[in-house]
Amino acid sequence: MAKKVNNKKASDDQFNRAADLIGLDEKIRLSLNVPDRELMVEVPLRKDDGSLESYRGYRVQHNNSRGPFKGGIRFHEEVDLDEVRSLAALMTWKTALVDIPYGGGKGGISVDPSKLSPLELERLSRRFFRAINPIIGVNRDIPAPDVNTNPQIMAWFMDEYGMINGHTPGIVTGKPVELGGSLGRNAATGRGTAIIARETANLLNMNLDGAKVVIQGFGNVGSFAGNFLNEMGSKIIAVSDVNGGLFDPEGLDIPLLIKHNEKNKTIKGFSQGKAISNDEILNVECDFLIPAALGGVIHKMNVDKLNCKVIIEAANGPVTPPADDILFKKGVHVVPDILTNAGGVTVSYFEWVQNLQQFQWSEDEVNAKLEDKMVAAFHEVSSMMKSKDTSMRMAAFAVAIDRVAKSFELRGV
Ligand code: NAD
Repeated sequence: MAKKVNNKKASDDQFNRAADLIGLDEKIRLSLNVPDRELMVEVPLRKDDGSLESYRGYRVQHNNSRGPFKGGIRFHEEVDLDEVRSLAALMTWKTALVDIPYGGGKGGISVDPSKLSPLELERLSRRFFRAINPIIGVNRDIPAPDVNTNPQIMAWFMDEYGMINGHTPGIVTGKPVELGGSLGRNAATGRGTAIIARETANLLNMNLDGAKVVIQGFGNVGSFAGNFLNEMGSKIIAVSDVNGGLFDPEGLDIPLLIKHNEKNKTIKGFSQGKAISNDEILNVECDFLIPAALGGVIHKMNVDKLNCKVIIEAANGPVTPPADDILFKKGVHVVPDILTNAGGVTVSYFEWVQNLQQFQWSEDEVNAKLEDKMVAAFHEVSSMMKSKDTSMRMAAFAVAIDRVAKSFELRGV
């Protein structure tokens, strides 16, 4: 379903258009579009059967003008330097947009972790973290989970780092709560997505109560976003996962569906709704379409069949740049990923702050602070959108790039 997108070309294109919009100085533009540091490491793994494998790992540190590099580590066969570079740059813009004191980084290993045993996965994770140890640090670069990495892997990372440098819980975020993870982190990206949908409805004079919502992807982000929007009174009329979709024009029973999904690890087999395919779900008539699965799912070949008023990009990069241009011309409002899904990194930042304070905040406190950050970022972006008469994506990039450029200049070279 998803097309492999040229990530670097897409992120360069977005950066340059937004830089034009704010009249960014050419010299600063060059510095901001190039990563500060790129580390490529060989990660050997002794398999359970005694054989030896070798994998390629990466950590790209894009920019730290506003604070330590921050960004996830991805374990996936398709990870390559180009992908990691563009994801690292996106993190610089995302952290600046929600105004948290971080830069941007990203890392990964080119590996299919489903082919490894649990012990092999642990050995690989620890070896990778040892390999990148020279460039990370609690005030230098703070990794986090991304595709196919999770709290358990963060616990191994933290432990490995601690054996070399002494106990340092703030070296990674997205840890298990028992080891210094933050309350509210698990739901944060979905909660942030729902907050952004609510603010968008206000901006466009749409009524969220009774609004028809379609969600592609019912994992961490999609299911939490669905749950919060359901609580806000929206009707979730279609959802899908890797096995296909479900459609009910009267609205699906989301709490029941979440229980079914937790038990069966899929929405397939749920008692309510008509089965539809993952292509069909994108064409369902609705107010809000929330892609919350993969990148590149809305592209030049299928964009004309969409039937929604607003797209809320919960996944990273679900709309390709050519499709984005078509949607803008058609007047379909697209709320960009760097704004919509920034709730995750925002609560990661809260986790780091709690670790530095050696203190734990209540879940209510975390959620209230998340709400403030998301609403403030939304209003910055909508006022930039109005003042520059541009798309919300360009406005989000413009706010973020402007902030990073100011810090870059103030620090001096
Ligand atoms: P997840 O693995 O928990 O869930 C992914 C969901 O997408 C699953 O329901 C899966 O079945 C579904 N899916 C996979 N392939 C699909 C396909 N071909 N068609 C339809 N559905 C498919 O992942 P997640 O953490 O919910 O992340 C979803 C997206 O949000 C990703 O793009 C991720 O990069 C982005 N994101 C996540 C976070 C976070 O905190 N989890 C933060 C920022 C961005």
